[in-house]
Amino acid sequence: MASEKEAALSAVPSDSPTIFDKIINKEIPANIVYEDDKVLAFRDINPQAPTHILIIPKVKDGLTGISKAEEKHHEILGQLLYTAKLVAKQEGLEKGFRLVINDGPDGCQSVYHLHIHLLGGRQMNWPPG
Ligand code: 5GP
Repeated sequence: MASEKEAALSAVPSDSPTIFDKIINKEIPANIVYEDDKVLAFRDINPQAPTHILIIPKVKDGLTGISKAEEKHHEILGQLLYTAKLVAKQEGLEKGFRLVINDGPDGCQSVYHLHIHLLGGRQMNWPPG
């Protein structure tokens, strides 16, 4: 299996459907921890921390990444962040957690459907790699 960095560097930024569309449409299984009409949260298949959850908009609407955000996306961006907080509480991450958005090749983004990584359950380090 390619490393995250290799996957990110070989990923082609595009607005085409991604593996996350298959998860949204329940065409492939995922361990879903939160769902409402706009937002889905599920466990990352390759966890980098004891808790590693991805929070995504169900409708991409051009949001391949955070760098593509426009005025019209304000509401969904707020919902994603608020959901991250709700899921962190649901997961019992009282001691803290980290939210990450990778963007583009330099940011190590491998899936071009906006997602927030929620990482927790261990002491994080700084600076990130
Ligand atoms: P990125 O590198 O784009 O910031 O994050 C993409 C994340 O999606 C990675 O952490 C990767 O492990 C996760 N991922 C990729 N494919 C799947 C999948 O099929 N199912 C789940 N649950 N996670 C996936």
